[in-house]
Amino acid sequence: EKKEEESEWKKWELKKFQEFRFEIDFTSSITIKLIKGTAEIFGAELAIGIEYEIRGQKAAIFTWHGCIFEIKGECDVEYIAEETPMMSYLNTHMAIEQMRCRIEKEGGDEPRVMIVGPSDVGKTTLCKILINYAVKHGRTPMFVDINPNEGTVTIPSTLTATVIDKPIDIEEQLSVLPAKSSMAPLTYFYGYLQSTDKLKLYNKLLIKLSETIQKKMDKDSVVRHSGLIISTPNNLSNNANWDTFTFIIEKFKVNVVIVVGHERLYSDINKCYQDNKKISVVKLTKSGGVVNRDPSTRRILQSYKIKEYFYGTHKCELAPYSVIVPFSDIFIRTIEQGIAPSSALPIGMERKVQETRLVPVEPTEDLINSILALTNVDVKENEETNEEEDDILIGTRLLGFVHVTNVDTEKKKITLLCPCHGRIPKKYMLLADLKWIET
Ligand code: ADP
Repeated sequence: EKKEEESEWKKWELKKFQEFRFEIDFTSSITIKLIKGTAEIFGAELAIGIEYEIRGQKAAIFTWHGCIFEIKGECDVEYIAEETPMMSYLNTHMAIEQMRCRIEKEGGDEPRVMIVGPSDVGKTTLCKILINYAVKHGRTPMFVDINPNEGTVTIPSTLTATVIDKPIDIEEQLSVLPAKSSMAPLTYFYGYLQSTDKLKLYNKLLIKLSETIQKKMDKDSVVRHSGLIISTPNNLSNNANWDTFTFIIEKFKVNVVIVVGHERLYSDINKCYQDNKKISVVKLTKSGGVVNRDPSTRRILQSYKIKEYFYGTHKCELAPYSVIVPFSDIFIRTIEQGIAPSSALPIGMERKVQETRLVPVEPTEDLINSILALTNVDVKENEETNEEEDDILIGTRLLGFVHVTNVDTEKKKITLLCPCHGRIPKKYMLLADLKWIET
């Protein structure tokens, strides 16, 4: 029997600069073991003799010097590619690293790198590579994810910033980072999947996030010198979103813009900033290995991110628990944008211009399968909030998320799935425009 098990391993050999590309579904897994040489997955080095179990990933094993590795299990797709953009990615990292070295010697600005491009050009992958190479140099860069569509670090519909002090885990990627990093991600609740859905709210959160990041950097010079790696929404590459693009540059004091896989966008940005000595614009090509994801695949990926939040990964399983809470103990708000329609106002009353405001949500069956974000803001006695308090609530850091599994309007009770044990504190909750059905 032992022989049979051994024969399941399949050996692969890569020459220098080649990469082995593979795709694995969420329902199956493969095990990878490096036998000889050096190899990395998106910049994270594989250790010799260690078995890595990989699930639900499309990725590549790349080698700078050549390697031999073995794989157990079936890939949906597997092939060796000769051509990759890895050399240009490494050179970009080296240029960023030089900026970091320069601060230590003669001062200057830390790298604040923003990666833009259309969907499926390898933006997130490039972020991972740049982070892993920075960590290899002993840096602790901050990964800023302002793409609410993917929820790379936590769950979709959020904006996050995370200090990364270790290579990205080969098996889990950037998932459930709080357990692994010395710093839990800073998470802001947006509640929508597209940055353009509620642009005023999105912009407001960008300001809050950038301010919090600045505070962190002012306190921690190691993080500051390492700089920012900012992952942006795909739709930033549309001309219509130019204002958001320049807003991000301004708020996050971006000084390196990397454009991946989009000539025209590169040319537009380059033209705009050519006289600005503080901002460099870099063009990088898309890797031939990047896999396209259609809308249904994206939905599946979003759903897996939420599942992971509650149940963990195959490597680190979590046991969520259910609580039943009376309606009177939960306080749900939804964030709305824009002004109240004048028809809703009494005659003679001024229309009040408020960019974002909170609206109470009464529990009904509509809430079933919704995701709620638990804020850190205590519920006040009279439950009424004013504009200023709304603002605090909108920009608050989150304690976590819960999933509504049932609403019983007769007994006036709501059932929530929570990631960890304990009572639901008397704090405001925010409703996300996001449903998840457990499968
Ligand atoms: P974007 O952020 O631009 O939408 P991603 O970086 O998320 O694109 O890449 C899309 C998908 O392609 C991801 O699943 C990623 O893991 C995969 N991918 C990226 N580069 C490679 C590669 N060289 N080989 C195989 N798969 C890759």
